[in-house]
Amino acid sequence: MDSKVFDPASVTVRGGHFIDGRLDLSGTPRDILRPSDGQLCARVPWADEALVGAAVESAHRAFVSSPWATLAPRARAAILRRWADLLELNRVPLARLEALGSTRPVLDVEAKDITVSADCLRFFAEYADKLGGDVAATKSEHFGFTVTQPYGVVAAIAPWNYPLQMACWKVGPALAAGNAVVLKPSELTPLSALALAELAFEAGVPAGIFNVVQGDGATAGRALVSHPLVGKVTFTGSTATGRRILMASSSVQIRPLTLELGGKSAQVVFADAPDISVAASAIANGIFNNAGQVCVAGSRLIVQRSIAEPLIERLASLGRQRTPAPTWDRACTLSPIIHAEQALKIERHVEQARAEGAEAILGGRRLHADGGHYFEPTLLTGVKRDSRIVCEEVFGPVLTVQTFDEEEEALVLANDGDYGLNAGVFTSDLGRAMRCMRRLDVGTVWVNHYTRTPDFNLAIGGFKGSGIGKDLGREAVEQNLQRKSVLMAF
Ligand code: ADP
Repeated sequence: MDSKVFDPASVTVRGGHFIDGRLDLSGTPRDILRPSDGQLCARVPWADEALVGAAVESAHRAFVSSPWATLAPRARAAILRRWADLLELNRVPLARLEALGSTRPVLDVEAKDITVSADCLRFFAEYADKLGGDVAATKSEHFGFTVTQPYGVVAAIAPWNYPLQMACWKVGPALAAGNAVVLKPSELTPLSALALAELAFEAGVPAGIFNVVQGDGATAGRALVSHPLVGKVTFTGSTATGRRILMASSSVQIRPLTLELGGKSAQVVFADAPDISVAASAIANGIFNNAGQVCVAGSRLIVQRSIAEPLIERLASLGRQRTPAPTWDRACTLSPIIHAEQALKIERHVEQARAEGAEAILGGRRLHADGGHYFEPTLLTGVKRDSRIVCEEVFGPVLTVQTFDEEEEALVLANDGDYGLNAGVFTSDLGRAMRCMRRLDVGTVWVNHYTRTPDFNLAIGGFKGSGIGKDLGREAVEQNLQRKSVLMAF
């Protein structure tokens, strides 16, 4: 039986910008390669500074003159819901496009990414008419209150690991709050953003309110975050790029930024974990899904010594069950690595760890298959606490193992390092779970599982080097609104 869900040659791919309600093909075309096999997948034009400027100006014009910001909030919500419905109606072609041009397996995109993206738009749509201001307690001859208003143009920069979902996390709250958006997807995964914008337009988002520009970070990204007409910046990507964006954006104008940056997240497992096989499967998914190319990847296992051996054995067995295959193949349970350089970078990290005495008890090598780059699910024991493999984000399917005896020791290890995105804790002791929850210096703690739930109520965002501000939750919409205080004397 042919294990292909679809033939990659059969997918119609269009690349381009979406500005003022129209496809725009200006700029020098660049080759976009399929991560699964390194074949050419599209030629996509890259915007220069002038085109980015035109996209921002179009968004600004639309913000000022179209009814988007002033539309009855429920009418705005209805358009966003229609957009979500269109995503689901186009589930199959959209999933193929996403799988073709990214590391996401097509069956996962169909079953999860599209649903999550559509539901995320619906979630934010519901906030359109639910966030108002407050009345202040003032002297009786005064009346004080607060009102909220959108920032105007929001510049959104998205990463390559979950292109569609990350775009919706950024664009959904900004539009629900009444802003206009210019989105720059990653230059590595530009395909689904254009489709997303076309569907938004079809759903009734006015021309110019959601623009997409394609291009690299150094030119298009930089021009976007430093444009003077931008009222707010929202970014997901590496900490190094986040720092550059913070500086470039702030050197032009003081304006808020949401920065969702890197992570080096701990999965802390106590001997009293309720079910070691449930814990093992959560931990394995937390590091092997999307081949570890996930900001919240749980890349540091911190396990109580007495259960280390059986847990490691289970993890190794789960790692061995992963099959590297192209994203359009139904067998794919180990995603390709985004490109050759990234696969090499992962390998260098592992090689250096080994040179420092670590042992790869599973994996540790790059794999090549039909032009694609893959990396074996990898478990490293004997790692040094201050080594690069333990301190730096690898963005690959590599799990380091550290052991502890006492709870305090586990917490100290978990809080090591510059990142603070999230952590997992596995224990059946409620008191311990609560103590760990309070002490972990991270933006999100998952207890006895390791992932977001499928709803969007809980915001996500890092402490320390993992970022500023929040995606998802009520906070994401609030952070796309500015609050004005009004005091009236009568
Ligand atoms: P990676 O290095 O893994 O590609 P990045 O964090 O550099 O991840 O990229 C995430 C997003 O940030 C991409 O859309 C990229 O084009 C963009 N980007 C990179 N550098 C800059 C920059 N200096 N200014 C604005 N955007 C940038």
